[in-house]
Amino acid sequence: MAHIPRKRFGQHFLSHDGIIHHLVRAIDPRPQDRLVEIGPGLGALTEPLLAHARHLTVIELDRDLAARWRAHPEAARLTVVEGDALDFDFSALGQDLRLVGNLPYNISTPLLFHLATFSPQLRDAHFMLQKEVVDRMVAEPATRDYGRLSVMLQYLFHMEGLMDVPPEAFTPPPKVMSRVVRLIPKREAERHALDESRFAFLVAQAFSQRRKMLRSTLKGQVPEAVFAKLGIDSGRRAETLTLEEFVGLSNESPGPEPS
Ligand code: SAM
Repeated sequence: MAHIPRKRFGQHFLSHDGIIHHLVRAIDPRPQDRLVEIGPGLGALTEPLLAHARHLTVIELDRDLAARWRAHPEAARLTVVEGDALDFDFSALGQDLRLVGNLPYNISTPLLFHLATFSPQLRDAHFMLQKEVVDRMVAEPATRDYGRLSVMLQYLFHMEGLMDVPPEAFTPPPKVMSRVVRLIPKREAERHALDESRFAFLVAQAFSQRRKMLRSTLKGQVPEAVFAKLGIDSGRRAETLTLEEFVGLSNESPGPEPS
């Protein structure tokens, strides 16, 4: 039966053969890879991935689509998880995972934050996203796009935009341009926060009120003496701080100030 795309699940199915081919070439799937696709939909990526990989795990929220995948002729080579990728525990799938997805755009930011928590389990990830979201992921400090998403993902991953994809490549077409991005987790030696939860907390606090000065958003967390030691003016805003400066603040102030 024909599937009617569901807006609430962000269903825009890739339908441009050239772009699908290009994307699968960029992923370069190998038979032994532990491939995990988020949102297989009608299979634009799933089918070519299955042609290369021995096994594939797919996570699909739409019950009708998940049922299709369970009934697929190659179902023996598929693990179908019917559920929400937003609360799926990717660590249950083991190590060295290769994530792939033309992600539902309506949940892309929370999904990226969720997936970031599994970065040690990943070999790489290739995602199709709204171009505007990829711009935020790779943004430099002191630009409009720079924010918590940029700092957290740049701390955990090397990222590279691979190609722009116009709305006409999808059925139905989304209203925005899309972009494919590759994420490769940084090695432990490349991540310098002594306490990564503390680092994540301070970054979230600093950006919680974007227009406010750090001395106000980080009040009670980072003493003025630490700002002075690191040569960071506490009158600056979070959006001007580099990744290294955030790491410095968290390493030099390992806990809240005693009251
Ligand atoms: N991969 C297909 C393609 O490229 O044509 C479909 C992409 S479509 C943009 C997004 C897919 O993610 C849909 O199949 C949708 O049902 C599924 N989806 C939406 N929200 C989801 C969620 N929270 N968890 C898992 N899958 C989800």
